[in-house]
Amino acid sequence: MTTLILGGGITGLLAAWHLNERGESVEVWEAEPRIGGWVQTLTWPTEEGRPGRLEKGPQGILVRAESPADKLFKKLDLPLKSPGKGARWVGKKGRLIPVPAHPVGLMTSALMSWSTKFRMCLEPFQPVRPAEPEEGLSDFIARRAGRGMAEELLPPMVAGILATPPHLLSIDAIPLLRKWESHGSLFNGVRKSGISHLMVPEGGMGALSIRLAERLPLVRTGLRANRIEAQAEGRWLVHGTAHSLVVDRVILALPAFEAAKLVAPLSADSAEALAAIPYTSVKLWNSRHAILPPYHDGFGFLIDPPSGRPYLGTLVPSWIDKDCAPSDRMQLRSFIGDSTLWEDPHPEEAKDWAWTERRLKQWLPSLSAPFQIREELCPHAIPRAELGHRTRVRTAVEALPTHIDWLSNARFGPGVRDVIEGLEEWVEQRG
Ligand SMILES: Cc1cc2nc3c(=O)[nH]c(=O)nc-3n(C[C@H](O)[C@H](O)[C@H](O)COP(=O)(O)OP(=O)(O)OC[C@H]3O[C@@H](n4cnc5c(N)ncnc54)[C@H](O)[C@@H]3O)c2cc1C
Repeated sequence: MTTLILGGGITGLLAAWHLNERGESVEVWEAEPRIGGWVQTLTWPTEEGRPGRLEKGPQGILVRAESPADKLFKKLDLPLKSPGKGARWVGKKGRLIPVPAHPVGLMTSALMSWSTKFRMCLEPFQPVRPAEPEEGLSDFIARRAGRGMAEELLPPMVAGILATPPHLLSIDAIPLLRKWESHGSLFNGVRKSGISHLMVPEGGMGALSIRLAERLPLVRTGLRANRIEAQAEGRWLVHGTAHSLVVDRVILALPAFEAAKLVAPLSADSAEALAAIPYTSVKLWNSRHAILPPYHDGFGFLIDPPSGRPYLGTLVPSWIDKDCAPSDRMQLRSFIGDSTLWEDPHPEEAKDWAWTERRLKQWLPSLSAPFQIREELCPHAIPRAELGHRTRVRTAVEALPTHIDWLSNARFGPGVRDVIEGLEEWVEQRG
């Protein structure tokens, strides 16, 4: 069986790699000149030409020993580096409050009120609810760990992962939470699943995309698929810019809104479900400064939404990935959310560098003026699993014609780790 995979992001490359490992014939088409989708490492030399880099999307990946991600990197012979344990903070009520490294430390932390802490201790004793019907993310956390937790800690954490307020999301926005609950409680789930560590492959996250592509027989770049037609004997003719191909099976490894366009002539139900999955845009300001202790030695900080929106927080890539900037520079990556989602008090203000620097200085008053800045726009970057997401995904997949499939982080979960685990299950189910 010959399979054409449309989309050379991490989902498409990884799906192709799995099929190729099983001896199947695969080809990948990627619309852009470079493979990787959001998983690309871009060069960013210093102003004097010293080497440096930044990530287009993920800054790193959470890996647990013997997990599918751990095994994948070993199979690909791609060494991982861990920055170790770094401090992280939540900006709340005008100050940066350290986040304890261990859940027990939360009991003495100023991050939450005493009543919230007390209720959190009762989490292991809450009954497990069946997976259906789909629950809202905030309601899930309130049910398990208390309303205080859902209101005091969840918003900055979710803003930092999904750039979306949690009350807009379904529990399927973070599939790991339901997996943990299936162990009896979140507490038990975390304990049984083991500790994950933040890791970065040598060469940056983009090295994962490059290594996967190197292991594939044919990856065509600059080739956008624009039409799929049914052929005799259940085969498919795929038209791309300047190239067409007849294959047995087509896998759409595309964001839902891109897949919807190709699927529309084949299945109205699937196309409608795909088009109904919204995506969140985000803007990033990358900047390089003089070293500022203690922040240069930590992961970064997230901002409690009422204290900053739509400024969501700042990571310290120079701590996460030591090769992204020279050792005398601190590299920051500040996230600006979409004003329409965040009740931005001043949506008319341009979210330019001057605006972002004012927010940064509010939390880091001693931060030096930047040596360099670089803006990165991420339009429609993160799938937004709103309530009803599970039904939309199910319909999108089940209403597809035979031998057409849709794979995406909108189906498996938002992160690279979710995609790795989701694809592993997908491959196993196919036998
Ligand atoms: C700013 C940001 C930060 C992130 N941080 C993290 C993080 O810290 N940790 C984490 O785990 N995850 C993170 N993620 C999420 C992670 O990047 C995604 O889960 C993952 O990259 C999704 O990969 P994908 O292949 O499904 O989609 P994409 O990366 O969107 O790939 C889809 C590909 O399809 C191509 N394409 C589109 N239309 C066509 C067509 N018609 N024909 C051919 N090709 C087409 C596109 O050009 C693209 O390359 C982040 C994402 C962003 C945007």
